[in-house]
Amino acid sequence: MKILLLGKNGQVGWELKRALQPLGQVIALDRTQNEDSLSGDLANFEAITQAIHVIDPDVVVNAAAYTAVDKAETDQSNADLINHLAVKHLAEFCKKQNILLVHYSTDYVFNGEGIEPWSEDDQTKPVNLYGHTKRLGEQAIEQSGCAFINFRTCWVYGSHGHNFIKTMLKLAASREELSVIHDQIGAPTGAALIADVTAQALRVYQLSSSQQQNSLCGHYHLAASGQCSWFDYANFIFDHAKQLGQMLVIQKVNAIGTSDYPTPAKRPLNSRLNTQKLQTQFKIHLPHWTLGVAQVLEEII
Ligand code: NDP
Repeated sequence: MKILLLGKNGQVGWELKRALQPLGQVIALDRTQNEDSLSGDLANFEAITQAIHVIDPDVVVNAAAYTAVDKAETDQSNADLINHLAVKHLAEFCKKQNILLVHYSTDYVFNGEGIEPWSEDDQTKPVNLYGHTKRLGEQAIEQSGCAFINFRTCWVYGSHGHNFIKTMLKLAASREELSVIHDQIGAPTGAALIADVTAQALRVYQLSSSQQQNSLCGHYHLAASGQCSWFDYANFIFDHAKQLGQMLVIQKVNAIGTSDYPTPAKRPLNSRLNTQKLQTQFKIHLPHWTLGVAQVLEEII
């Protein structure tokens, strides 16, 4: 299997570079030009077309995205270019070349109402621009008619890149008191888990008949098991980091509501994802969120 990986330096892309290796030849690109003058700049449609022509992969795994949720509110054209129009171009070209497209999306395609975990078939209704552009990207993939696997995930962290764990560790090293949101609920999901699940799903896909492959294509919800609020998550980080010997000055963590912490982009309260389809179709076990967070804390510290 020959795999073209786009977005190799993001949190998920970094882990995919490792996890996809046992499946075959992996050519990993970022937005700069590599030694063969190939670039994975999603904004440059010609460069993407050329890279796919030259590499001729069986699978394109797209881990690149515009992920600055708050910035997207005032930078709509760039967010739309990367998360929607570039994905449309990629999907249409994959259809033309008969290539499987693996893509990543977000729980932010839902409006966050209620307390039930979102299923793949639930109605989408993004509450912010980032979520809106990600949903437009999904719709473009659906409409292209290409073979695709789209993993919707949430609350991503990893040892590589910027994320909530690193922000909390930094703040807790200098502040005695912090306020953290308690009414948004989800599951912190490791980039390593996302990459390992992707590799497992690709292996199952590869070993399936073409009829089975057709039925494996579609949207999947991918999150660690269990659930928590950002407040619970922060407390777990502080407790575990202290156990690992990290010097933190934090003494008090206050639970605050989303309405007490206004941000440019509205955040959904309910980020719970129902992962049953993923577990059944690809025979995947999803570990509890605390296991992956503990592992990354050990790596960081
Ligand atoms: P990161 O922000 O860590 O990585 C995104 C990558 O995309 C970066 O390496 C960035 O490159 C690259 N990129 C941005 N613009 C372009 C471009 N024009 N051409 C090529 N590459 C580009 O994201 P994650 O790894 O966290 O996210 C992976 C996927 O998961 C995304 O689809 C995201 O929407 C989704 N997701 C993420 C969540 C999260 O909490 N982070 C939650 C839910 C879903 P550069 O470094 O050069 O800017």
